[in-house]
Amino acid sequence: MTEIQRKHDRAPVPKDWTYEPAPESRDVVKLRERYGLFIGGQWIEPSESYETISPSSEEVLAIVGQGTAKDVDTAVAAARAAFENGWSSLPGSERAKYLFRIARILQERSREFAVLESLNGGKPIKESRDVDLPLAAAHFFYYAGWADKLEYAFPNRRPRPVGVAGQIIPWNFPLLMLSWKIAPALACGNTVVLKPAETTPLTALLFCDVLRQAELPPGVVNIVTGDGRTGAALVEHPGVDKIAFTGSTDVGKAIQRQLAGTGKKLTLELGGKAANIVFDDCALDQAVEGIVNGIYFNQGHVCCAGSRLFAQESIYEPLVEKLKKRLETLRVGDPLDKNTDVGAINSRMQLDRIKELVAAGQEEGAEIYQPPCVLPEKGYWFAPTVFTNVAQSYRIAQEEIFGPVLSVLTFRTPEEAVEKANNTPYGLSAGVWTEKGSRILWMANKLRAGVVWANTFNRFDPTSPFGGYKESGFGREGGLHGLEPYLRFEE
Ligand code: NDP
Repeated sequence: MTEIQRKHDRAPVPKDWTYEPAPESRDVVKLRERYGLFIGGQWIEPSESYETISPSSEEVLAIVGQGTAKDVDTAVAAARAAFENGWSSLPGSERAKYLFRIARILQERSREFAVLESLNGGKPIKESRDVDLPLAAAHFFYYAGWADKLEYAFPNRRPRPVGVAGQIIPWNFPLLMLSWKIAPALACGNTVVLKPAETTPLTALLFCDVLRQAELPPGVVNIVTGDGRTGAALVEHPGVDKIAFTGSTDVGKAIQRQLAGTGKKLTLELGGKAANIVFDDCALDQAVEGIVNGIYFNQGHVCCAGSRLFAQESIYEPLVEKLKKRLETLRVGDPLDKNTDVGAINSRMQLDRIKELVAAGQEEGAEIYQPPCVLPEKGYWFAPTVFTNVAQSYRIAQEEIFGPVLSVLTFRTPEEAVEKANNTPYGLSAGVWTEKGSRILWMANKLRAGVVWANTFNRFDPTSPFGGYKESGFGREGGLHGLEPYLRFEE
């Protein structure tokens, strides 16, 4: 008997196909014990501070600064000085060099950033590695390309930078949101004061190291960490010319009220309750993958998540059956494990909010399904969840849950699908699954959403504008449209 035959006889096909742990090493990340505020190219010692943790283990990762109104004032003064002392008058081709450098450094250090993003935010490493980091670098590359072509982007309109931009970002895509904000602002010749979310400051602080490596002039980008009070101080500051905010609709509305009449420019990228609409002629297995990606990607912490699934009645049963089967294969657990599909919920506060809305769904009469999965004991976790038997009036069909929770509803005709999909105060995104091209175009015209994906979901590209209708906000980020909020025109 040959060696191969002997091995073959002794090794029957295993019955259990569970995955071995495949953790990404943390060694690539060198965390400091404490971080200051990055103002005028220097680390400034904060007067107050707080601990930032890993939501998957509740381990304290570092102590970071809680920026006060005085710190915000210092940062705005540094940004103003940098704006007036050279940055705004630098030729576009020179500004582009810095942006290209930042993009390349992000690529070179992408593993370090990806590990840190997953540690501090709880998202699976395969997402931070394959989505957040490549897209963050791509945004800097893309806007670097525009920096010396603004006159061509807006012919005969004499584009000029706005001044100092105050930027406030959320915790779901910390580095990517930073890139969405900083890259177009710098390309247009503005300077920046950016406040990261309270729970996810670490990649923004590591980014300061990239700024130094790229030799960006001091004060062009200032990072002030802290909670909502720091954000409010930035919004209120009279020296800020433009506010760019991504976050909840409630805070967005408060900011809009506060800025009314001040002349400050404002863009708001707020919540969503996207409809993912599946017609009976679609490729069903592909649609199931799209539904899973639409709502369980990044634990559902996605403003454009496909959180309302509309299934055409004729395929409702096979679709739900396939979906439940697929959910059984999702691996929930350690964000640093390369096989993990669903990581940790970002914070205890967010976990409580998800639990509250899920309980409301059950009380109102929806039927819950969660696949069997063992959740880690420490940290913040929530199993992937599907609700069927959902009425449009239920809170789970109306409110943004921002977690791995899908509500399934049904429709009969395309008209009914449009009517139900548009029955929401939001209007950020939507998805359509059908083999008919004409139906895709018809639906895309009728859906009140800033982005409509066809036979795919959650696809992002720096060249595509992104933004909402109605309570999902206004203004666009990405693409040529994303330059406009950072420019004024001398017509
Ligand atoms: P917030 O809107 O509170 O947070 C977004 C950013 O704004 C954070 O940096 C936050 O700081 C800051 N902020 C908070 N209050 C103020 C204020 N008064 N003035 C200026 N800035 C402020 O969202 P949450 O993190 O509280 O999440 C709550 C809900 O919002 C979620 O459950 C989800 O539904 C939705 N959300 C939507 C997002 C989206 O992309 N559309 C992103 C995040 C949340 P801090 O981090 O310290 O609170």
